[in-house]
Amino acid sequence: MLVIACLKQVPDTTQVQIDPVTNTLVRDGIPFIVNPYDTHALEETLRLKYSHGLKSVALSMGPPNAEATLRKALALGVDRSILLSDRAYGGADTLSTSNVLAAAIRKLGESEEVGLVFCGKQTIDGDTAQVGPGIAVRLGFSQLTLVDRIEKLDLDAKTITVRRKLEGRYEIVEARLPAMITVVRELNRPRYPTVPMRLASAKAEVESWSNEQLQLDVNSVGLKGSPTWVSRIFSPERQEGEIIGDGMNDPVAAARLLLDRLVQGDMLSV
Ligand SMILES: Cc1cc2nc3c(=O)[nH]c(=O)nc-3n(C[C@H](O)[C@H](O)[C@H](O)COP(=O)(O)OP(=O)(O)OC[C@H]3O[C@@H](n4cnc5c(N)ncnc54)[C@H](O)[C@@H]3O)c2cc1C
Repeated sequence: MLVIACLKQVPDTTQVQIDPVTNTLVRDGIPFIVNPYDTHALEETLRLKYSHGLKSVALSMGPPNAEATLRKALALGVDRSILLSDRAYGGADTLSTSNVLAAAIRKLGESEEVGLVFCGKQTIDGDTAQVGPGIAVRLGFSQLTLVDRIEKLDLDAKTITVRRKLEGRYEIVEARLPAMITVVRELNRPRYPTVPMRLASAKAEVESWSNEQLQLDVNSVGLKGSPTWVSRIFSPERQEGEIIGDGMNDPVAAARLLLDRLVQGDMLSV
């Protein structure tokens, strides 16, 4: 049975710049990283590989340089890494991204049963959190979002029990496999590759699938398959802060007041 991690290569957010004319990302010269939530998706994929004997696959749709993301996954121990890259996939919104990723998962399922697909809860650039659910809907998989703990995976009964981290509460849910799971940071602590694994991965093959392999209608992918587009990107204006307490004269009381407000607003758990 296969367990798949979907990994997106994203710009290092501290350095993102937007082209003011086209409203698209200025990609030249920016360092890229694996979307942080996706490192947790990959870690869980590896844990299930070793604990349940599943075969693991890392998938990414992106330009050729996204290969670096997939090589990192190989260095960490994933069995296969596949880059979905084609000129036709450029300019994709979440709908067409989900179409391509779902098609690749469907294709993998032709030769081996897919049990689980892990995605991050969202990306740090697009931030829509739509791609994971988009994949689940297209494949008819159970959909479990915001998961912070895998309680039980029963491969004989083909069920999984997880804990979902919702605002102010947790939810334990059991679902039938195959399932698509989006994960939050609390799920696990991602491992680092050892030096020998890093060296071995430099020679390992990152597979590349173009649209020739996936055979998708070119009108359903990339810019042509994207019914949404960005008309403007801007930073929200900062609102004036509210002064609470007598901060300058009594910083300890002010800190206590601030803590109380954060807890009351459910922004901190204590
Ligand atoms: C209206 C609109 C227009 C856009 N136009 C463009 C454009 O012109 N050019 C452009 O480059 N981008 C564009 N984007 C961004 C593009 O949609 C996203 O890069 C992509 O669709 C994923 O969306 P997201 O980043 O919000 O993912 P989310 O839904 O936040 O991601 C959730 C999870 O899905 C998985 N995932 C997401 N994307 C990928 C991927 N590519 N490969 C593997 N796993 C993935 C990851 O596990 C991730 O953690 C646009 C986005 C929107 C909303």
